[in-house]
Amino acid sequence: MSSSVLQFEPELSQPLIQEVMSRSGQNLLACYQCRRCAAGCPVGDETGVTPDRLIRMIILGEREEALNNLLVWKCVACYTCGTRCPNNIQTARINETLKQISKEAHIEPLLPKVSAFHDVFLRLTSHFGRVNELVFIGLYEMRNAKRELKHGGGWKAVADEMKNHAKLGISMMKKKRMHFQLNRVKRLSEIKRLFKKAKDEAGG
Ligand code: SF4
Ligand code: SF4
Repeated sequence: MSSSVLQFEPELSQPLIQEVMSRSGQNLLACYQCRRCAAGCPVGDETGVTPDRLIRMIILGEREEALNNLLVWKCVACYTCGTRCPNNIQTARINETLKQISKEAHIEPLLPKVSAFHDVFLRLTSHFGRVNELVFIGLYEMRNAKRELKHGGGWKAVADEMKNHAKLGISMMKKKRMHFQLNRVKRLSEIKRLFKKAKDEAGG
């Protein structure tokens, strides 16, 4: 019979805690599980994992669960949890770190479309410092189509998704939210420097 008592195994938990703390810049060890963060998380109900629970997973060394759960992929980075936290722990940054570690470990994401969205967004931002909607949707659709076909989804699923996005594109155009010009930010070198720093700190 399995025990309901949580097990703390330092040899499992220490490497994960250290990696997440150093890459996210957040002091997870300051968390005393007051759950003020959980009360305000807008996606906590649908993810089944709240920020406090995520931190507990990391502290206990539950690597697989911590790297691939719905909160990691559905966090909208609203920073409500961090604003409410008496110890200023920003779970949005922890989630971003877990996404990166999960990708580096080639773990199949629970929500592949969110993962593709994240990849394309970062790729464009690192090149131009901003995202152009048309280029973004083109690259994102290519990624999704490739994945859909690889997993036997068929051309119909690909076409349906493209149709939906075309409708969204038209609605954005009507509201003048679609930009055709590919602009770069003025100080692109600063953005590139930040990306390089993050990469170097991640050891890659
Ligand atoms: S509010 Fe801060 S200290 Fe409290 S459980 Fe959440 S992360 Fe931990
Ligand atoms: S930043 Fe993410 S984890 Fe924190 S409250 Fe917002 S959605 Fe929830």
